[in-house]
Amino acid sequence: MSVTRRTTFAAALAAPALLAATPMPAAAQPAAARQAPGFYRFKVGTFEVTVINDGYNRRPNPAEGFIRNAEPAAVRATLEAAMLPTDHLDIPFNITVVNTGSDLILFDTGTGGLLAPTAGTMWDNLAAAGIDPAAITKIAFTHFHGDHVSGLVTREGQPRFARAELIVPEAEWAFWMGDSAPQQPATMVKGRFGAYPAERIKRIASTAEVATGVTGVATHGHTPGHTCYTIANGNASVLVLGDVTNHPAINVTNPGWHAVFDMDAAAAEATRRALFDRAAADRTLIIGYHWPFPSLGRVRRAGNGYEVVAQPWTTAL
Ligand SMILES: [Zn+2]
Repeated sequence: MSVTRRTTFAAALAAPALLAATPMPAAAQPAAARQAPGFYRFKVGTFEVTVINDGYNRRPNPAEGFIRNAEPAAVRATLEAAMLPTDHLDIPFNITVVNTGSDLILFDTGTGGLLAPTAGTMWDNLAAAGIDPAAITKIAFTHFHGDHVSGLVTREGQPRFARAELIVPEAEWAFWMGDSAPQQPATMVKGRFGAYPAERIKRIASTAEVATGVTGVATHGHTPGHTCYTIANGNASVLVLGDVTNHPAINVTNPGWHAVFDMDAAAAEATRRALFDRAAADRTLIIGYHWPFPSLGRVRRAGNGYEVVAQPWTTAL
């Protein structure tokens, strides 16, 4: 009898099943039923950077109503090419912390557990990483969308950070505190920042140095004052990307796609292309807020856009 590849493959699969059918040893324990703590650490020169996962939001039916200028079939095709489901898209949240030796700086504050039942793991993960919110000296904001500022406060509206200075891009502040911002999110933004005394809020130009080795990069478009940050020490650096892209399968692959969250979509696209052209040429290490954890990698040109080359996970520090 000839043995086809298929039956050989089936036999290979069956072998572990036979093992599994043997009686379980007495020491079996209940399934853990929760993920390992989501934090990842690496060095930038002498600085220590920690990426903290804040969970994810599941967007149903991402082919409809998510990308303004792409046909549903094209969105489904992109997700299929990335071997992702097409009926939903899990969009992760990742917050960056850098310990420069003289400052402990947080970049954005996550969802605060206020936006989705699957998000808000930041607090457990900060604790697992040994980082006390009361020890944070500065918080630098990329922009003021709800998934980036909601962690400023508890569910009761109390400030979560006892002494941090809040560093906000002037253009972002002016827009959301002004009269032309959409009312409902502007009310949310004002509530989050309003929990803090005005003297702890520092408005900066998007290109300012916010601490030694930490400098803003003006990347307006996603929001009027969107700002990335470069963390640099010695010969090393990493770029805190914020929302220059959403999930990489969406608009890293297709930089011309306009996600509904891009407030000035044409400016956001121009920013994305210019930044990624430079990052690809310079092999810039990037932390993507909405990239899959640990959300650390580089971009290179691929197809009509770019792709993320993930930084290999390592225990080396
Ligand atoms: Zn976001």
